[in-house]
Amino acid sequence: MRILVQKFGGTSLSTERAREHVIRHIERELKQDYQLVIVVSAMGRNGDPYATDTLLSLIGAQNSTLPARERDLLLCCGEIISAVTLCGLLRERQIPAVVLTGGQAGIITDGQYGNARILEIKPERIQHHLDQQSLVIVAGFQGRSDSGELTTLGRGGSDTSATALGAALKAERVDIYTDVNGILTADPRIVENAKPLTNVSYAEICNMARQGAKVIHPRAVEIAQAASLPLRVRSTFSEDEGTLVTHLGPKTSGSAVNDRHVTGIAHVSGVTQISVTSKDNQSDLQLQVFQAMAIHRISVDFINVTPGAAVYTVFDDDAPKAVSVLQQSGFAPHTLSGCAKVSVIGGGMNGVPGIMARIVEALTEQDIQILQSADSNSTIWVLVRQQDMAGALRALHSKFSLHL
Ligand code: ADP
Ligand code: MG
Repeated sequence: MRILVQKFGGTSLSTERAREHVIRHIERELKQDYQLVIVVSAMGRNGDPYATDTLLSLIGAQNSTLPARERDLLLCCGEIISAVTLCGLLRERQIPAVVLTGGQAGIITDGQYGNARILEIKPERIQHHLDQQSLVIVAGFQGRSDSGELTTLGRGGSDTSATALGAALKAERVDIYTDVNGILTADPRIVENAKPLTNVSYAEICNMARQGAKVIHPRAVEIAQAASLPLRVRSTFSEDEGTLVTHLGPKTSGSAVNDRHVTGIAHVSGVTQISVTSKDNQSDLQLQVFQAMAIHRISVDFINVTPGAAVYTVFDDDAPKAVSVLQQSGFAPHTLSGCAKVSVIGGGMNGVPGIMARIVEALTEQDIQILQSADSNSTIWVLVRQQDMAGALRALHSKFSLHL
């Protein structure tokens, strides 16, 4: 039997109408004789009754004194409510279905509450239900530690539940259903004419996801890539097939050659640029700065070092701590908060001349100042002020003709 994993995100389950669409996708695949494993997120977004952020607000969100273990118990409820609701709807239609929590489904994690990592999948229980001709609904975003505690997998965790289960069950494919028509060339909330990509490689999409494209979690893509498990990202609200993610990437007239220089544009906002210069040509400046960040577990990015200076970024939330740590070490750091990192991503840009020139051209035309830049063989990053971010995304999107 062919196994298919279908994952439905929060907005796909938030209203009765949305859930009707979900059922339509399930019924269609059942007719294709698939054995189905359905992974669900909590319903809706912040403010909706059972959404993850709403549950968090019950305990005062981040400032809660509640231990992480109990916080995870609360967070696990959203997906369970979603799974049981869907099960009820399927059973009303005489579709046999059973609900499993992440732990019951065999998702075994380490004990790091709030951001647990999957150690192992024990698929026997799911397999048993599938063999009994039942569809299995798994509460996403959660697992169980070795000692039996409930754990959650961090933001985007349901994507990871889906691909990890897909890999363990040797599924034919994992379909990620969401509220947009696939993986687009940029976030459609900012770039109105962003276009769905038909075929992309794991590497390209992983890169876009790491650079901020929130449509799929990078960890989920890594798991699929390691297992050579095809992924499809598509909309719950249409029959469009969306984006297929495999090893291959874009196809050009029958061949599998990647001729796309730029695949998409992604962004991360809320970062602070920190510049540290040495007073008296201190030779160990870089060592001191980055060791201090490491000891205080402050994640650093966008690092440029020169003999007398270190320039890098941290998240705005970490900036006050970073500054005080640097001051304690005798530095007088200069900071610029409220910046955004914009990434131009493309597996095919390696060795292609002129990409940076076009980026500079696009931003200069809009009077957008580049505060810092860096590049690798598949990404060019620029740091801009937050108020320039949307303009930068649109200008770059159009400069590389991604809407065509
Ligand atoms: P779900 O609840 O289904 O998991 P998410 O909110 O996690 O949905 O992801 C879907 C959202 O990701 C879209 O509504 C879109 O605004 C955003 N997004 C950001 N970048 C991209 C992109 N490159 N392609 C598609 N969607 C994107
Ligand atoms: Mg998501």
